[in-house]
Amino acid sequence: MSALTPCPHFIGGEWITSAGPSTPVYNPSTGDVIAECPAGGPAEVNAAVGAAQAAFPAWRETPAVDRARVFFKYRQLVEQNFDALCRCVAREHGKTYAEARGSAFRGLENIEYACGVPSLLFGDTLENMARNVDCETLLQPLGVCVGITPFNFPAMVPLWMYPLAIACGNTFVLKPSEKVPLTAILLGQLLEQAGCPKGVFNLVHGGRAAVDALLTHPQVRAISFVGSSPVAKYIYETGTRNGKRVQANGGAKNYLVIMPDADIPKTVEALSTAAFGCAGERCMAGSTAITVGAAADRLLPSLVSAARAIKVGRTDLPDRQPDMGAVITSQHRDRVLSLVASGEKEGAKVIADGRGVTVPDAPRGFYLGATIIDGVEANMTLAREEVFGPVLNVMRMDDLDRAIALTNASAFGNGAAIFTNSGGAAREFKHRVKAGMVGINVGVPATMAMFPFTGWDDSFYGDLHIQGREAVQFYTQQKVVTTRWFGGEVGDVWRK
Ligand code: NAD
Repeated sequence: MSALTPCPHFIGGEWITSAGPSTPVYNPSTGDVIAECPAGGPAEVNAAVGAAQAAFPAWRETPAVDRARVFFKYRQLVEQNFDALCRCVAREHGKTYAEARGSAFRGLENIEYACGVPSLLFGDTLENMARNVDCETLLQPLGVCVGITPFNFPAMVPLWMYPLAIACGNTFVLKPSEKVPLTAILLGQLLEQAGCPKGVFNLVHGGRAAVDALLTHPQVRAISFVGSSPVAKYIYETGTRNGKRVQANGGAKNYLVIMPDADIPKTVEALSTAAFGCAGERCMAGSTAITVGAAADRLLPSLVSAARAIKVGRTDLPDRQPDMGAVITSQHRDRVLSLVASGEKEGAKVIADGRGVTVPDAPRGFYLGATIIDGVEANMTLAREEVFGPVLNVMRMDDLDRAIALTNASAFGNGAAIFTNSGGAAREFKHRVKAGMVGINVGVPATMAMFPFTGWDDSFYGDLHIQGREAVQFYTQQKVVTTRWFGGEVGDVWRK
C-alpha cells in the first residue's frame, strides 16, 4: 500500500500536523485508504478563529483593489495547477476527470467574480436627501466568516465561499468535508502562494466537534454551509441562536417534467447527464423524471439504452477514464441499494439495473451502475427521500397540471426542469413551479457565479443565498452615513 497523503490543518499561516484521532479518507475507485483526516475540535477551532480575528483589522484596511489583486494571482495559480487539482478531486471523490474539470471550472468562475470586488462593493448615494444633507451607504466586512462544506464538490463548493468572503475584507475559517480534505489543502496552498496574508484564510479539519465549536464561537460572525437538509437546519438553528448570520444550503429532490412534444434525442441526453452525471451525487441531480401522457413511451426505450451504455470504472488513472465513477463510500452505496430495494418492494419496477456492476481491475471500489425505476408513486420512500446516487425514478402523469402539483408537493425546492417545444407549457411551468432554479430544456439548471444559488424550502435555510450579489450582501454589513456641512457664514474658506 502506498504512503498516506499528509492532511494538515492550516492555522495562522502554519501547516499543522495533528497526531490525534482521525477518520479515513478513501479513494472510492479502489476502496484504499489514501489519507487520515484529523478530527479537529475546540482547540484547533479556537486557534483558527483567533488567528482569523487577529488578521482582520489589517485585512479590513487593505484597499479592495489590493485584496482583489490576491485573487487575480490566485486565479492564475489555480489555472496553472488545474490538472493537479482535478486529479485530486477525481482521486478522493471518485468523479471522472471531466466532471472534476467541469465543476472546478465553476469554482474558478467564483474566483473571477471575487476579482471584481471593488465594483461589487459600490454603495449608493443621494445628494440633498434633505436640504444640504447627503446620504451614502458603505458596505463593510463582518469579521471572521466560516465555511462548512460537503463531500460532493471538493473544489467548487469551498470556492463558492471564501474567495468572495475574503475579497470583501473578511477573514475565513474553512471546515471541509472529512471525506475529501485533500483538495481543500491544495486550494489553501495555492492561496498562500498567491500572497494571502497569514491568518486571513485558515483550514480546520474534522466533523461534528469542529462544527459545533465554530457554531458557538463568539468571534465567528457568519456561517456558510452546504450539505444535507437535517444538518443544514441544525446549522441554521444553532448558528442563528448564537447570534450569527447563516446561509445553509440543504439537500434536494429535483423533478424533470417531459412533455409529449419534447425533442426526444436531446431530452435523453440531458436526462442521462442530469441523473447519472457525478454518479448522481449532486444537489442539482435530476432524480425524478415525470413523463406526461405519451412522453413515457417515446422516451423510455432510448433512455434505458443510454443508461445501459454508461461505462463505470476507475477515475484515478490519468490515461483511462470511464463515463461514471464510484460513489463516495461503501456505506453510501449500501444506502442507495437499500432505497432501490424499498422501491421494488413497494411496487416500482427496475427497468435499467446497475446494481450488479463490476469493475474487474478494482474489485473493492464503491461502484453502482446507472439505474432507472419505473412506476414510482408519490407515497413511496424512494419518491420522497434524496437518493444521491445514479438512480432515476420515473413517475407517469396525465397532464402538466398534475406534474406541477407533484413537483410542488416536495419538501425540497432546489431545481426543476421541463422539456418541451411549447412556449406556453414552459411559461406555465416556470411561473407555477415551486423551485428556486428552473431549467427549460436544461436538465441541470445550476447557477453560475454571478447568479445566486437559490434553493427554496428544505433546500435552503437563511435569507441571503450563496453566490452573486446576495452573497456580497451576506458577507458585508451596510452602514448608512448622513452628512451635513455647516457653511455659508462670513469668512468661510471656500466662499469668495
Ligand atoms: P453532510 O450534511 O453529511 O455534511 C456536510 C458537512 O457538515 C460536512 O463538512 C460534515 O463534516 C458536517 N456535518 C455532518 N454531520 C454533521 C452534524 N451532525 N453536525 C454538524 N456537522 C455535521 O453532507 P454530505 O453528505 O457531505 O453532502 C451531501 C449533501 O449535501 C446532499 O444532501 C446534497 O444534496 C447536499 N448538497 C447541497 C448543495 C446545495 O447547494 N443545496 C450542494 C452540494 C451538496
